[in-house]
Amino acid sequence: MGIKIIPRHGNTFKEKLYLPAIVGGLKVTFSHFFKNLKDTSNIETLCYPEQRPKDITNRYRGVHRLTKREDDSVKCVACFMCATACPAECIFIEATEREDGIDEKMPKKFSIDLLECVFCGGCVEACPCDAIRMDTGIFSFVKKKKEDFVVDIDTLLSHEPMKGGN
Ligand code: SF4
Ligand code: SF4
Repeated sequence: MGIKIIPRHGNTFKEKLYLPAIVGGLKVTFSHFFKNLKDTSNIETLCYPEQRPKDITNRYRGVHRLTKREDDSVKCVACFMCATACPAECIFIEATEREDGIDEKMPKKFSIDLLECVFCGGCVEACPCDAIRMDTGIFSFVKKKKEDFVVDIDTLLSHEPMKGGN
C-alpha cells in the first residue's frame, strides 16, 4: 500500500518567527481600515436599531405564525409532526377534538419557546397542511421575563405575514 507523506509546514526559520505572518495579517487589516475610513459606503455594519435591515426577504425565517382557514379558524390539525421534527423540542401542543366537523382535532394549546428555538424551519417543513409558517419577518423580540418568550396560540394566530418583502 502506497503511503503518501505530507510535508509539515512551519518548519523554516521565517515561519517559526511568526512575525512575517503577523505583519501580513496586519497589512490586510489596515488596508481595509483606511479604505473604509475614506469611503464608508462599503461597510456592511448597521447602526442597529437606528438603522433597520432592508434586505429581509419573504424567505427569511422570523418568528412563527399559525395560519388560518377561510372561515378564520385555525388550520392546524394537532398532528404533532412539527413538535416531533423540532430539534430543540420547544413546541408544546395540547390537542382537543374539533366540534365543527372540519377535522378530527385542533390544538387547544400551542406554544413555542423562542429562547429554545434555533429557527431552523424544521417545523414548517414537517407540517403536512401548511399550518405553521415563519414568514412574519419578525427578527427582533425583546422581553423582560424568560416566560414571556413562550408565545402562545393566540399570539401565533395574530401574527401576520410580512408585507412588502423582497
Ligand atoms: S424553527 Fe426549528 S427549533 Fe424552532 S420551533 Fe421550528 S423546528 Fe423547532
Ligand atoms: S402546525 Fe402542522 S405539523 Fe404542527 S401540529 Fe399543526 S398541523 Fe401538525
